[in-house]
Amino acid sequence: MKETLFALLLEDAPRDAELLREFLIDEGYDVRLDIVECERDYVERITNGKYNIIYADFTLPGFTGQEALNYSLKICPDTPFICISGTIGEDRAVELVKLGATDYVLKNRMERLSFVTRRALDASRHLEKFRKSEIEAKTNRNLLQAVINNALDPIYIKDTDGKYLLFNTAAERLTGKKKADIIGKNDFAVLNSKDAQKITEDDRRVFDGNSPISYEESLLFDDGKVHFFHTIKYPIYDEQGNLTGLSGISRDITEKKFIEEELVRAKEKAEEGDRLKSAFLQNISHEIRTPMNAIIGFSRLLKDPDTDREKSVAYAEIISNSSEQLLSIITDIISISTIEAGQERVVIKPCDIGDIFEALNTKLSLLAKKKGLTFNSEISLPVDGRKILSDNNKITRILVNIIGNAIKFTKKGHVKYGCQLQGAMLEFYVEDTGVGISEEKFEDIFKRFRQANTDIAGNYGGSGLGLTIAKAYVSLLGGKIWLKSVMEKGTTFFFTIPYEQSPVSVESQAVKISNAKLMTVSNVSILIAEDEESNYLLLKEFLKDYDINLIWARNGEEAINICRDRKEIFLVIMDIKMPVIDGLRATRDIKRLRPELPVIAYTAYSSDADVKKAMSCGCCGFMSKPISKDQLCKIVMEHLRG
Ligand code: ADP
Repeated sequence: MKETLFALLLEDAPRDAELLREFLIDEGYDVRLDIVECERDYVERITNGKYNIIYADFTLPGFTGQEALNYSLKICPDTPFICISGTIGEDRAVELVKLGATDYVLKNRMERLSFVTRRALDASRHLEKFRKSEIEAKTNRNLLQAVINNALDPIYIKDTDGKYLLFNTAAERLTGKKKADIIGKNDFAVLNSKDAQKITEDDRRVFDGNSPISYEESLLFDDGKVHFFHTIKYPIYDEQGNLTGLSGISRDITEKKFIEEELVRAKEKAEEGDRLKSAFLQNISHEIRTPMNAIIGFSRLLKDPDTDREKSVAYAEIISNSSEQLLSIITDIISISTIEAGQERVVIKPCDIGDIFEALNTKLSLLAKKKGLTFNSEISLPVDGRKILSDNNKITRILVNIIGNAIKFTKKGHVKYGCQLQGAMLEFYVEDTGVGISEEKFEDIFKRFRQANTDIAGNYGGSGLGLTIAKAYVSLLGGKIWLKSVMEKGTTFFFTIPYEQSPVSVESQAVKISNAKLMTVSNVSILIAEDEESNYLLLKEFLKDYDINLIWARNGEEAINICRDRKEIFLVIMDIKMPVIDGLRATRDIKRLRPELPVIAYTAYSSDADVKKAMSCGCCGFMSKPISKDQLCKIVMEHLRG
């Protein structure tokens, strides 16, 4: 197929123009030739047309070939410009070539035209190709640059001396260094010398092995943070295959590592939680079964007609102690659940540190004495400074748990506790000369189900809840708890609570029941609303020394009716969970009928929320089951006196 040649010819001699066309046709071109004769037409054509080649006669009337060349260099510099000359001679034509013409042909040697044309077209094609590839290369370069600089991962290129040739924006961002300060320098300019040395060794592995490497590394940056990376480095070569350096990409996996570690920690924690739970269940089972065993066994023995009076008293004492033990473990479990459910509340009211210590001494000194321990307490506060605003029950419970442990973990020596003022805080301490706790367990022992070592459960029993409860209560009260201890020498626990003196005097809690007993009571009736006969019989037994008429209601409905009909009733003891109508509703109805009649809630529900609920229904007191004879008599006497 013939090659189409779009050519423009500047020529005022039609014969010469025809000659040129014929030469080109002879040469095998499909010639599309536009012929112009003047400057205006020439400029118009090269501006609007698209030609493969321009031929220009050198001398035209009022327009020279040189001027034509200037126009073409300006308007279409890539189109080959061939000067056709008959008069100017070769020297002048050569000069034109020097000024930018592609070539020339003398009119008396037109046979050169085909060679000149071919050569000019080839050169033009090459130039076009070169331009295209140059544009393509530039586009690719820009694209690559954009990809590298917009990449989220640090990308870099180094020469074989470890000097940076490329350092992308992500690398700048991460290291806090500017590319301009890094290019031409090695890693010692970017990182601390230890990490830089390590990286240099890794780079060496790439150069020596002539192969890519992929590994995880951690690097410390100037901001003091350690980052983890997954890094891939591979060697780069020049066109002759010589190693020129390496290219690397380092993905920051710090977050991923952190999540992985968190997962591992969570898994370990869950496993540990499982282990602790199983250990706890085992302990609890042991802690419940041991007193239960005593309670069941000795109760049966009590029924035995062969058991004499002395033995009966001893057995009853064992049953009573075992029951206390059982109750304490159940109370601990319930407390932990309410603490963990965020339902534990502090009830701030006036309380007397002296009363709290007295009650503790009564409760615990016997236990210490039984083990042959010296048991002391001291209050380093003036008597009128002992009445404070705080939560009596919680302070008592914290001290019971810590002192209980001190007695439990001490074989000989003493247990001593006390309190003193430290600035705005009241600081308590419990000191023992027991087994001690190793320092690495100081934090752990406050976590639930934790015991200082695995032998503890076997040797001393316990649920691992006491200190958890103590710590939670201390923090609810606004204080802190800590300890010091020396193994085999002893331990001292400390805790603080805010010290706020009570503006009102506290009614003494330590009302001696023996005094109350002396009071004579006659001709009064108390209603006991209780669906469990055994519980009613127990209260009846507890109150048998008083001349009180007890009336029994088996449910809430009966209680309401009796209170309405029998005006001699002066006090109601109300179980909360009862059939037909529960104790809370019954209390509300009774208070509507007889607002002056005191109702005391008597229930196995014992949380602060339960107390609040009972009070809001009209109860004026709260007794939680199990109750002792002394406690019951004290409450009844208080109401009698009232
Ligand atoms: P536990 O029911 O096991 O006593 P705690 O939470 O009260 O549970 O105590 C946790 C652990 O702390 C105990 O098992 C024991 O290892 C250690 N501990 C607490 N108090 C003392 C103490 N006074 N002397 C030695 N070890 C103690």
